[in-house]
Amino acid sequence: MKTPLHGAPQPTRRVLLREKLSKDCACGARTHLIGMDVRNTSWRITVMREKEKNPQYWRNQAQQTLKIALKLQQLNTNVAKNIVLFLGDGMGVSTVTAARILKGQLQNMKGEESLLEMDKFPYVALSKTYNTNAQVPDSAGTATAYLCGVKANEGTVGVSAAVTRAQCNTTAGNEVTSILKWAKEAGKSVGIVTTTRVNHATPSAAYAHSANRDWYSDNEMPPEAIQQGCKDIAQQLFDNIPDIEVIMGGGRKYMFPKNTSDVEYQNDDKYRGTRLDGKNLIDVWRDKKPKDKNSQYVWNRSDLLSLNLMEVDFLLGLFEPIDMMYELDRNVQTDPSLTEMVQVAIKILQRNPRGFFLLVEGGRIDHGHHEGKAKQALYEAVEMDRAIGEAGGMTSLEDTLTVVTADHSHVFTFGGYTPRGNPIFGLAPMHSDVDKMPFTSILYGNGPGYKIVAGERENVSVVDYAHANYQAQSAVPLRQETHGGEDVAIFAKGPMAHLLHGVHEQNYIPHVMAYAACIGQNTDHCRSGAHHSTVGPLPFLSTLTSILLLKFLF
Ligand SMILES: [Zn+2]
Repeated sequence: MKTPLHGAPQPTRRVLLREKLSKDCACGARTHLIGMDVRNTSWRITVMREKEKNPQYWRNQAQQTLKIALKLQQLNTNVAKNIVLFLGDGMGVSTVTAARILKGQLQNMKGEESLLEMDKFPYVALSKTYNTNAQVPDSAGTATAYLCGVKANEGTVGVSAAVTRAQCNTTAGNEVTSILKWAKEAGKSVGIVTTTRVNHATPSAAYAHSANRDWYSDNEMPPEAIQQGCKDIAQQLFDNIPDIEVIMGGGRKYMFPKNTSDVEYQNDDKYRGTRLDGKNLIDVWRDKKPKDKNSQYVWNRSDLLSLNLMEVDFLLGLFEPIDMMYELDRNVQTDPSLTEMVQVAIKILQRNPRGFFLLVEGGRIDHGHHEGKAKQALYEAVEMDRAIGEAGGMTSLEDTLTVVTADHSHVFTFGGYTPRGNPIFGLAPMHSDVDKMPFTSILYGNGPGYKIVAGERENVSVVDYAHANYQAQSAVPLRQETHGGEDVAIFAKGPMAHLLHGVHEQNYIPHVMAYAACIGQNTDHCRSGAHHSTVGPLPFLSTLTSILLLKFLF
């Protein structure tokens, strides 16, 4: 009997396929990422294989891309009412490519030909990520660059390079402000969404000024830093820019007095409150809000999703005591996904007629790599890409500048002459011609996956290298895999996205976002009329409308 190409799938078959895929991935992959129909899929692969043999397929595809590229000559010079910055922590170019293949393979395609949401952005540039004192940077100095527009030393947030890491007394007078603050001062709503703790390096550069990124609460600070007047980062979250509309991520334990039990893990000592000053910062946050405004603190997914967002003015969501769980390990009942947090954030921020600035961090791509767990890292990247797609659907290219970038790369690579469609977590097709053993395509330059068994490199064919927590082999043993020093990509779409067009210093990024939004230090062009000051259709459309109107009148 001929199998129909379309029509309702038989439930049993679909379930079986999901089970098989989950087993193949050994990952407990989300069914929302897989959601497929077995007959449609095999049909699609066969058709794809055939069409790729025809040179006309590649010519047509290139011609189509050319047409789109030619249209880009008509620049979008609107004012960016809204700015969304997606920051993939540690999302180097090799991570982007591997995440693209993973996304395609989760949809049962070969993978290489698939497109991430960020791949669809029209402008791509490179970002030079070094810190003022580091060739291979960290997330704190880089966050200062792409949020505050100033390069800085590693380990410092929201301060210039005049500040030495961990030396509190070098801070005063050397604070630098971020695009989040510039947006706030211009009357926009602002938000921070991250999968790490909200006082982690990336988000903290948006609001804090600290000589040390590790000063999460006063418990982590040396006494002399406190005596010299430096404040911990959690405290600064509520003091420096007190009216941030949306804050979501992890980090509960830094908000409560020392030894306070965590609401979710009541018997777990490592999640108890840390604050030596005895403050409850959730109360501090609530007390600072105007009484006629609706402020909501939530700590779990169901409370978050049951909020009436049309009525919430200020939202603080802290879903874990430290960082949020990896997407693959997430408790889908209690913890929201990054995509869900982004949807909620945009719905709240969008109510401001003057627009908004939103920082979204896929913060645990970096953690997966540090642990040598490429699968965790890549699923984090795929989830951030899903959030990028959702944000794109909720905003318009006409008035929203969206930028996707990374702070730095990792020493993560995949290679080994794998054939087309090779499982991204799979083996290279040959054995080493030196030690005669197989190897995985994904490898790290250094990290915890270095393993010698009986004097030889471990034979990976006897281990479950597709497991979520498998640590890919590395050339050099280190407890934590390190960042990489090469450039990272900047993807941009919307008003003035074309200004991200070449090889740039990382601190250029917020200058472009501010210029596009007519906020911050450089707004003369907004008054001179060189920049379309009203949010509306693209310039050529306005011209077209004028011509049509003139024809109608005369
Ligand atoms: Zn890192």
